[in-house]
This record gives sequence, C-alpha cells and structure tokens, in this order.
Amino acid sequence: MNTQTNFASLGLAEPLLRAIAETGYTAPTPIQAQAVPQVLKGGDLLAAAQTGTGKTAGFTLPILHRLLESPASQATAGRPRCLILTPTRELAAQVEESVRTYGKYTKVRSMVMFGGVNINPQISALRKPLDILVATPGRLLDHAQQKTVDLSGVEILVLDEADRMLDMGFIRDIRRVLALLPKNRQNLLFSATFSDEIRELAKGVLDNPAEISVARRNTASELVKQSLIMVDQAHKRDMLSHIIRESGWHQVLVFTRTKHGANRLAEKLSKDGLTAAAIHGNKSQAARTRALSGFKDGKVAVLVATDIAARGIDIDQLPHVVNFELPNVPEDYVHRIGRTGRAGSEGSALSLVDRSEIKFLNAIEKLIKRPIDRGTLEGWTPPAVVDAPDERESRNFRRIGTGRAHNQNRRPAAGEPARRSSPGRGTDQARQARPAQSRQGAGARRRDPART
Ligand code: AMP
Repeated sequence: MNTQTNFASLGLAEPLLRAIAETGYTAPTPIQAQAVPQVLKGGDLLAAAQTGTGKTAGFTLPILHRLLESPASQATAGRPRCLILTPTRELAAQVEESVRTYGKYTKVRSMVMFGGVNINPQISALRKPLDILVATPGRLLDHAQQKTVDLSGVEILVLDEADRMLDMGFIRDIRRVLALLPKNRQNLLFSATFSDEIRELAKGVLDNPAEISVARRNTASELVKQSLIMVDQAHKRDMLSHIIRESGWHQVLVFTRTKHGANRLAEKLSKDGLTAAAIHGNKSQAARTRALSGFKDGKVAVLVATDIAARGIDIDQLPHVVNFELPNVPEDYVHRIGRTGRAGSEGSALSLVDRSEIKFLNAIEKLIKRPIDRGTLEGWTPPAVVDAPDERESRNFRRIGTGRAHNQNRRPAAGEPARRSSPGRGTDQARQARPAQSRQGAGARRRDPART
C-alpha cells in the first residue's frame, strides 16, 4: 500500500467515491485502508476496532461496492442481500444512516429495524425490495417469526460491536439468526476487543478469516485528554454545573451509572439553567431520538446517558465527555471516553470521582496502564446545600461529607478566602480542572492519600 492511500486507490466504485468526497474525508482511516480491500476480496474478516476509528465506513463502503458489482437478478420484497446486526437501536440507526450517506448515488436500498417502536411501519417497509438490512437481534427475530422478513438471500453478514452484543446477552439471539441464514455467505465480525468469547463466536461464524486490528487492545485514544477531580458525590452536580457554565461547554456527554441517576441529574442541571436531557433504556424510542437529535443540533448542551444508551452514539467531534460516576466495569471507561477524540479531533474526558469510587479508578488505571491526571478546580466552593443522595446511591457513597482533608475541593476554613472566579473567565477545561501533577508518576500516585 502506498503512503498516499486515498479512497480511489482502494478500488471503490465511482458513485461511492463521489459520496465520500461530499463527506469531506480526504483519506481512509487505518481500519478503512485495511478492511476495504479485504472485504472487496470476498473473504471473511475478523476486525478489532473501536468506534471512532471509522470502522462503519470500513465495512459499509466495500459492501455497497460488492452489491453494485453483482446486482440482484430480481428484486424481491423483504429479502435483504446484506444483514448488519448491531447491539443497540442508536447504533443501528447510525449505521443505516452511513449506508444512506455513502450509497446516495447508488440504487442500493436499505432499511433499519429495532424494537421499542411500532412494528407495523417496518412490516410495510419490508413489502418493498431491500438490499441492506440493519437490525438489532430481538426485533429481527420477531419479524422472522412473523415471516415478514426472509433471510434466505443474505450474501453478507456483519456482526458490529460483537463484544457488546455478547455483553448484552444476545448470544442466543445471534445463534437463532445464524440458523436462518444460508450457509454460503461472507461474514464480517467487528469487535472492540478479542476476548475468549469473541474468539469462540468467531470460530463458529467465520471461515478462515483475515484478521485486522487497528487499536491496541483496551488502549484509550491518544487524542483524548483525560483528567479527574476528587469530589464528594453530593457536590458533583454543583461542580459539574459550574464547569459547564464557566468553561462555556456547549456539547457535553455525561455518563451516570444508573438510569435513575441520569434522570435526576438531567433534571437538576435543567434547574441550574442548562439545557439538559437524559437518554437511557427506559425512555421511549421517540424520547431518545428527540434527545439525541437535540444534542446533535446544539439545542441540548448536556446529554446525560447510561453506558448502554450511549453505546454507538456517533457525533462528529464531540468535544467533552464527563464521567459523573466511574463505571464499575473498567472497559466501559474506555468505551465512554472513545465518544470523544474521534477520527483525528481532540477531545477531553473528565471524571468526577468520589472516594468510594477509588476501587473503580484503580481498576481503570490498571487497564489503561497509566494514571489519569488529577485536577483541582479553581473558583468553586462546595455549596452549603448538597444533593441528597437517593437510597440506592447512599449505599455506594456512605462517606459523603467526611474526611475533607483528602479533598482538594474542600470548603475554605473560617478566615480563608474563597477562590471565586469571575463568571465567564475561563473557556478551557485545562484552566478549570488544572492537572495538579500533569505528568504524574508512580511516586506521586503513592503519596495520594485517597488511593491507599
Ligand atoms: P466510526 O468509528 O465508524 O463510528 O466513525 C467515527 C467517525 O469518523 C464518524 O463520525 C465518521 O463520520 C468519521 N469518519 C469515518 N471515516 C473517516 C475518514 N476517512 N476521515 C475522517 N473522518 C471519518
């Protein structure tokens, strides 16, 4: 491969190149440079790539090319030639949007289907000829059972974010879908990591696959500036409001651990005068879509999400991610911060960490193999009134309000001046959450009393 790889040199058809040119992409990302030729060759593929690497175009472009190359002998309603399975509705919608974007100068027809919405419009859509079907497994099986979809013509199968599908317990559904597909087909499996379970699944699905990998396993994106601030759980919301306002953040994705926590936080941030919305599995699809499009259009500045709901949210150049609570599964931290710093743009990931979360922090730093910069926040003092933790949270955060000596953000003692910043002074997170030891080494970490 020459060093000046461009899309044309990958051998993609002219209508696709035209659509790519319109997106403004100048060169393929590494996953695209590797995946496109492999898929065009027609063999099976096992690819390790996280979201943010450009993996979606890495499979949709060559699939579109292959479908153009060998047009169907006859158009048949509800009988797709390519099936793309994804773990979540959001990801399904976004993948299909990519198919439409890259396929806009072709006659390839695509459709997306997922649960949580009325099935009837999907049944009507399936009465028309179809080339590419993007689906979540449960709803696809509903259609298969009702015989509104016919999977016997699938020539290409994609399992996107297969690791997530396994995490979410879809393995049985996947096997049931596989049983409905013709034996002779091309299979592509994309996963952020190659765990033993993924290898096991790959063994059953893929035939002599080419293997490609673009990011080292569990490596946090180099483009994401990671920092954390130690703060009592009860003060987090006030601190977050302060940071968002003072820094002038206009698009920030905030993660909470629970759906209830997401709702509560979005409500409180709204009361603080910020435009905020929550997105999680208990919300109707319409509410999720509304929140997501408001966030994309800039009408909603703060989107509060749980891990599963946020999976696959694809926003170009999302500048800020905040972990309002650290995830208890360390890999989720990597997924979360992967929402920013995508495809070459810089991003920031800030974690607000209560002392009760230190065990999660330790596990995350072990996984990413480096300490996260500790920051302090100038110009903010904890409010006298704190957020009352709800029952569930109080089990996790019992020590609220104790041990201020460990807290860099303690309230000033009597006679000590509060360090208030003038409103609108800072516009940069680096100034607000300035790393205490920006190149913190192992020695500095041992001295941090909160870590013992
Ligand atoms: P993905 O990993 O598929 O979720 O893609 C991440 C982001 O990268 C999406 O917002 C794409 O629009 C963008 N992207 C994909 N391919 C390229 C490319 N070749 N150059 C620049 N951006 C890209």
